[in-house]
Amino acid sequence: MSDKHYSFFGAVERSFDKASKFTKWDPGILEQIRECNAVFQMRFPLKRDDGSIEVIEAYRVQHSHHKTPCKGGIRFAAEVNQDEVMALAALMTYKCAIVNVPFGGAKGGIKINPRKYSPYELEKITRRYTAELIKKKFIGPGTDVPAPDYGTGEREMAWILDTYSAMHPGEIDAAGCVTGKPVTQGGVRGRREATGLGVFFGLREVCNMPDVMKRLGMPVGVEGKRVVVQGLGNVGYHSAKFFQDAGAIIIGLAEYEGSIMNDKGLDVDAVFNHRKATGSILNFPGATNFAKNTDALEMECDILIPAALENVIDGENAPRVKAKLIGEAANGPLTPDADEVFAKKGIIVVPDMYLNAGGVTVSYFEWLKNLSHVRYGRMEKRFNENMNTQIVNQMESMSGKKMSEKDKEYIVHGADEVDLVYSGLEETMISATHEIMNAWKANPEIPDMRTAAYVVAINKVGTSYAELGIFP
Ligand code: NAD
Repeated sequence: MSDKHYSFFGAVERSFDKASKFTKWDPGILEQIRECNAVFQMRFPLKRDDGSIEVIEAYRVQHSHHKTPCKGGIRFAAEVNQDEVMALAALMTYKCAIVNVPFGGAKGGIKINPRKYSPYELEKITRRYTAELIKKKFIGPGTDVPAPDYGTGEREMAWILDTYSAMHPGEIDAAGCVTGKPVTQGGVRGRREATGLGVFFGLREVCNMPDVMKRLGMPVGVEGKRVVVQGLGNVGYHSAKFFQDAGAIIIGLAEYEGSIMNDKGLDVDAVFNHRKATGSILNFPGATNFAKNTDALEMECDILIPAALENVIDGENAPRVKAKLIGEAANGPLTPDADEVFAKKGIIVVPDMYLNAGGVTVSYFEWLKNLSHVRYGRMEKRFNENMNTQIVNQMESMSGKKMSEKDKEYIVHGADEVDLVYSGLEETMISATHEIMNAWKANPEIPDMRTAAYVVAINKVGTSYAELGIFP
């Protein structure tokens, strides 16, 4: 890392300031948008399995109350600190604005390496953290709604819901206090893979833009594109999988322990299973090993997808990155110095704050499902299937021709919950891509796609404050 005193929140502020010059808002409004509205820092004790006592440091930051509830994931990582949680909360505000999800940004973090704690200890930490949030009214379906992030998943979300429900007996909308829950606990189908799918939809849309592909010297479309992914967790695994299913070639993968490469392509599921069986992605049959997880970032490829943690590409290693298109699946994987290097080299960076918005978009669908207390598609699926069957029967009798069973099944099929979630996400990501690209094209002074995304976000949050009458 080249930046000695690197501040992630400082980097977000730097990007914000760069973009705010392209907006017309009063400096006071800009300051209100930029600052974190509330920061909750806590410490609580954990009795470990061996009987020792450890004090746990944790945070919840609500960056913006321009819309409520606030929304943002909870991260378990040894590197968690206030600056990081503030930065991630700010990114959530802009992310929600870009994809038209009516929430303010928030984020939570617990400073632990989850690998060093037993499931029982993790459960105690999660439940106590939830209790602390409840005490300060930092959680609730109408105030602040957490979700999974780095190091957390459905299991932790289920613990949060159980703790919240136990302390709010009879609250009918309690299930909406957290998203990313297991489907059996009020989760929505499609949430698990949503961020990776959103990354895929966003990058596919960029790859389908002839002018952009011409600039990058690549053919239009995803098929045949050579892709490298760093991080094979929730976001990285699903991003890689959707690219592979669409005909892209996954030539490089990186995990904690190192990187692997195979020019002919790596089967994502096979690598995932190999890691599960051996504890490492290294020594995967047919692939070349690289000792460092950062080696993957410097591989020759068409699309690079950092999907692990922030600050992995900075001013020092950016000049060695050979990708033509970078999709920020993780939050903040590039520093502002890296952005400048890529802008000069003509490499397009598709920014985190919109590219990884699939998770929050589908979290929004989950929250709506919880408040409406009904599964998507439940009311209309059978009705639509009956209507479609009638139409097919009419078509067959009018034309005198029989449709193949496969075609019939496709047309007749009424939408299930997962179909609706996927199509809602696809529409969201495609619209957001065009909105940002149009803002970029409308002003040739805007240097990169990240700045264009910030301009779109700042204008939406600014308008919201103005409409609230806070800044007449
Ligand atoms: P995760 O814990 O499921 O996966 C992260 C993976 O990265 C792990 O497998 C970990 O071993 C690996 N990793 C850690 N350091 C690495 C390194 N230096 N090199 C290579 N691999 C490394 O977390 P996730 O939910 O997939 O989140 C990943 C990123 O995506 C984070 O920045 C998170 O904030 C962001 N994000 C997640 C979601 C979501 O819905 N989960 C939504 C938006 C953004």
